[in-house]
Amino acid sequence: MQAKAAVLQRFGEPLTIETLPVPALLAGQALVQVVAAGVCGSDVHMWAGRDPRTPLPIILGHEGVGRLLDVSGARCDVYGRPLAPGALVLWERGVTCGHCYYCAVKHQPSLCSRRWAYGIHRSLHEPPHLNGCYASHLVLDARTPLIALEPDDDPALLVAASCSGATAAHGFALSPVQVGDTVVVFGPGPLGIYSTLLAHASGAEQVIVIGGTGARLDYCAQVGATTLLNRHELNADQRREAVLALTHGLGADLVVEASGSLSAAREGLELLRHGGALSLVGFGEPVGELSLPPFETIVRKNVRVQGVWVSDLTHTLHAVSLTRQHRHLLAGLVSRRYPLEQATEALQAVGERDVIKAVLLPNS
Ligand SMILES: [Zn+2]
Ligand SMILES: [Zn+2]
Repeated sequence: MQAKAAVLQRFGEPLTIETLPVPALLAGQALVQVVAAGVCGSDVHMWAGRDPRTPLPIILGHEGVGRLLDVSGARCDVYGRPLAPGALVLWERGVTCGHCYYCAVKHQPSLCSRRWAYGIHRSLHEPPHLNGCYASHLVLDARTPLIALEPDDDPALLVAASCSGATAAHGFALSPVQVGDTVVVFGPGPLGIYSTLLAHASGAEQVIVIGGTGARLDYCAQVGATTLLNRHELNADQRREAVLALTHGLGADLVVEASGSLSAAREGLELLRHGGALSLVGFGEPVGELSLPPFETIVRKNVRVQGVWVSDLTHTLHAVSLTRQHRHLLAGLVSRRYPLEQATEALQAVGERDVIKAVLLPNS
């Protein structure tokens, strides 16, 4: 059997469509036909060569939904239900060891020292070679947990849950919202959209979204944003005044930085009430240094700054559940679908923020 893949050979250049042999499966591995592959903002950074983890050549793509074609041995989904060939599945994008200090003692598998993710850490040269979702087929590791999807699940929508949704859910698990809270979200991309929906679903009374891309910002109103602040129309002082006016002069309970911007992280601290929390979910790679006076911005205000690094299966399941519960609100999230041959165009569209969420359909 042959597989087709979009391969990143050189940073910044168009991906090349290559034909590769499908390898024989080792014990526990599963072969899936990729039905939908999400094009993530972090893929754009990898394509440009900004992510130091990227081994070349590589099949990008860490967000996927696929159909099981073959399994070496018996496999069950996370609920223990046996999976037969033909089943539609979503998988946890990170593979963790299960027995290191973070996996086994602290139960924080997203911090596993041996964690690797499909489409990020393993080059095309590393067996089983089909290591990323920008391809017709993917080989899943024996340790990869599988979530069986239902016939009415939209595979293209659920790929967004597997990364942006899961990372946003991890952020809210570490910095929970109380009913009645005010949450500020920086960045109306998929991570900010899921953060907005999670804040709304958690009972936040106000969800204030700050961004600069009109269509994405407008979309946030559909998933629970109560106030939209366009940074091209309001400067930082005006945004702070707006947040203070909405919170009796106190500031926000939680600020979610989902844009990957240092200036947003700095501004977020200014928007917090005393005792509030700043959740940093948007930084996926080194971005430079944050300079601030810690006494005035953090210590005197008793503020908590929470880093959020990737996610684990718990958060993926939360995001899948959230997506199913709000499938009508999220119907517009995947604003463009592309064949595999247009993977480069999809990366460009995501990089230029021309789309809300772009998804490849490698077998359409
Ligand atoms: Zn992603
Ligand atoms: Zn581990």
